This record gives sequence, structure tokens and C-alpha cells, in this order.
Amino acid sequence: MGAGAANKQPEYEFLGPWIGPLGIILGLPAVCYFLVYACNSGGCLALARPLQLPGLPAGTALFSFEAATVVAAWVALQVGLHLAVPGKRRQGAPLPNGQRLQYKLTGTSNLVVTLAAALYFGFVTRQLNLGRIYDSYVPLMGTAIALSFAVSLGLYAASFRKGALLARGGSTGQPLYDFFMGRELNPRLGPLDLKEFCELTPGLLAWLLIDLGMAHKQLQVHGRVSSAMALVCGFHGLYVADALWHEPAILTTMDITTDGLGFMLAFGDLAWVPFTYSLQARYLVDHPQELSVVAVAGILALKALGYAIFRGANSQKDAFRRDPGAPGVRHLRTLQTASGRRLLISGWWGVARHINYLGDWLMGLAWCLPCGFRHVVPYFYAVYFGALLMHRDLRDEHACRLKYGRDWDRYCALVRYRLIPWVY
Ligand code: NDP
Repeated sequence: MGAGAANKQPEYEFLGPWIGPLGIILGLPAVCYFLVYACNSGGCLALARPLQLPGLPAGTALFSFEAATVVAAWVALQVGLHLAVPGKRRQGAPLPNGQRLQYKLTGTSNLVVTLAAALYFGFVTRQLNLGRIYDSYVPLMGTAIALSFAVSLGLYAASFRKGALLARGGSTGQPLYDFFMGRELNPRLGPLDLKEFCELTPGLLAWLLIDLGMAHKQLQVHGRVSSAMALVCGFHGLYVADALWHEPAILTTMDITTDGLGFMLAFGDLAWVPFTYSLQARYLVDHPQELSVVAVAGILALKALGYAIFRGANSQKDAFRRDPGAPGVRHLRTLQTASGRRLLISGWWGVARHINYLGDWLMGLAWCLPCGFRHVVPYFYAVYFGALLMHRDLRDEHACRLKYGRDWDRYCALVRYRLIPWVY
């Protein structure tokens, strides 16, 4: 599809084209602020007292030049590293115009350099006061939100240039909807693929850095890093490292192959992920928890179970899609579809149609449990992520039904459960 092409009969998602996108564009930043407003050093929302909110601590700045400088330096550092460090070279999936893009994937290198520098200067030499991230949390978050709006507006405007390849779902001609969904499919700045880069590098690594900042603050205030904080930081670190280690797998996901880069992805990557996924670590600075050995063991076991399902299922499908004859997957039973592609009906993908989502959610629950049961806010991630995965499951099922037609119904009859075997 070329520039300016608009779908004849647009099919709107997210209750589009106006109410849903507008609600999300205004609502998600509000949720980011609400999570700080409802839970901080002044107290935390509890189910027993739902109307008692602590409000922002006195003297909290909404904006600061220091925060704006830090965010600008952070993005510059990550882009600079991406361009400078070695990375894997991979070809993307075929585009609607038949071309395939080349990608330089440096997530793991960016992670190693950034993490090593943060740990060394933050915890060994102590030259870097990572605890300042806790102190400047609100202005940093505000800057990240402003950045995501600026990036999405810039991308929307740039997508009108001649020759831009547009995303089908984001080129409906409805300005707000297209701004939200992302008009251009693969915007690039020279060698930098903005969508792939934003999806896996600045936001995910900022999430880890914020976690480290919270651990550092706990060390400064309480003299030690608690086991609960160590678990949360370790779990988040494992999740990010796993995502970056398997970076090539992102090239075949719907985000990269189908969705444009607009507000939905830019805000999610640059603001939502770092500032809401790090909530448990921030909570633990203000509300330290002591965990018993049994609790630690139980939480570790849940995380391990979630990870085994998540990684097992994702790797099995990835291996099968790359080479169905590979030793690890050739024994699996499959369903032949008229499209020429086969669907797995045994192994992980024979248990439930999105068993990988279940594993992901169990891991998310394990991230919340170290925060104990005194307050409900640290469980925001488990609730939000459950809703996100259920929506994503419906979205993917719809896409698969369009892709595979009646064969998808045959597949659903063979693999009856969507997310949770024997339950849903
Ligand atoms: P999935 O990895 O679930 O892939 C869905 C695609 O897999 C389908 O479109 C279909 O594509 C293929 N497929 C479906 N069933 C089968 C089958 N039986 N056999 C072979 N192929 C099949 O999609 P996502 O991109 O949504 O998720 C990737 C991972 O990212 C998940 O583990 C998810 O939990 C995680 N995630 C994490 C988020 C976070 O914020 N932490 C947010 C979103 C996702 P085709 O047939 O064309 O190959």
C-alpha cells in the first residue's frame, strides 16, 4: 500500500475511531499519575479504605529541567550505543510491498553496557546516585509522557511524505485514530528502525534502571536491599534480558509486521512500560517487606513455572516457524491449513491456544507477590496485564480467523481452551 492509500471500509479497533482512542490517549497518562498519587511515601490505597489516597508528597515537582536533561541524555545514549556496538543482522518478514527490511539488533549489547555501567558507578564506586531516580520519579515520568506524545506527533506528520509505506490498520483517514494506531509501518531514521528500537531498547532498559534506582534508594534509606526488592529486580531483569536475548523473534510479531508506529506503541514503549512496570520496586522503597524463606521459595517456584511455560511455548513456536523439520519440533502433531501453513496441535500449543500468555501472566503475578498483601496497588500489573492479554488474545484470534478461515475453526475444535487449560 502506498502513501495516501486509505482502506475502503476501515475496521476500527479499540472502540475507534474517536471515543476509544481519545479515552486511551488521555486515560493512560492519567493512570500513570494516579498510581503515584495513590501509592507513595505518604501511604497507599488499600481495599478497606478505598477513598483514602495519600496524594502526591509535598514539594513534588511535575516538571524539572534536570529530568528533561536526563531523559534526553538517556535516549541519546541508547541510540548512540545502538549505532556503535556490534549487533546481530537479521532480515524482517516480507512487507506488503514485497520488500524485506534489514535490522541491526543490539538489545543485548545495550543491556550489558548499560547494566554494567549502572551497577559499577551506582553500587561499586557510588559515583552515580541512582537513588535520584526515586526523588525525580514524577518529573521523569512527565518527561517520558511528553516525549511519547512528541514522537507520535512527529511520526504522524512524517508519515505524509511521499513514498512512506503505511500500516493498513493506521491509514484509515481518521486523524485521531491514525495518530493513535500509527500511520507508517516501519519509520526509520537512517539506519535506525524506530519501531523495533523503541519496542526493545530505551523503555525496557529504563524500566531496569528505574528498578536499580529504587534498590539504591532503599539501600540509602534503610541500609540494605531487602529480599523482596532483590526478587522484584531480579525477576524484572530476567524478563528484560530474556526479551533482548530473543530479540530476533520480535521481527515476526504483529507489532512489527502489521501495526504502525503511533501513540499506542510509542507511549507503551517509552512511558507506560518503564513507569508502571517498575511500580513494585517503587512500592518497596516506601513499604519494605520482609519475606520468610517459605514465601521466597513459593514465589521463586511460581516465577519458574511461569517462565517455563512462557519460554517453552514461545521457543517451540519460533523453532517450528523457522524450521518445522528441526529435531526439537518435528515430532509435534500439526494441522495443515489451506494457506499452506501448518498449526501446531500438540506440545505447548496443543494445551491452550495462547498458553504463552498464561506463563507470562504467572510471571507477572510472581513480581507482585513480594509486595505482600497490605495494599492493592502493587497488584496493578497483574490486573492490567490479565486484561491486556485477554484483549490481545481476542485480537490475535480475529487476525488468525481472517488468515486461516475455516481451518481456524477446525483448530479451535482441536485445541479448545484459549488461555487456561480446562478453565478458559
Ligand atoms: P504470539 O507469540 O502468541 O503469536 C501469535 C501468532 O502465533 C499467531 O498470529 C499465529 O501466527 C501463530 N500461531 C498461533 N497459534 C499457533 C499454532 N498452534 N501453531 C503455530 N503457530 C501459531 O503473539 P504475541 O506477539 O501477542 O506475543 C508474543 C509474546 O510477547 C507472548 O509471550 C506475550 O505474552 C508477550 N507479550 C508481552 C507483553 C508485555 O507487555 N509484557 C505485551 C504483549 C505480548 P502465524 O500462524 O502467522 O505464525
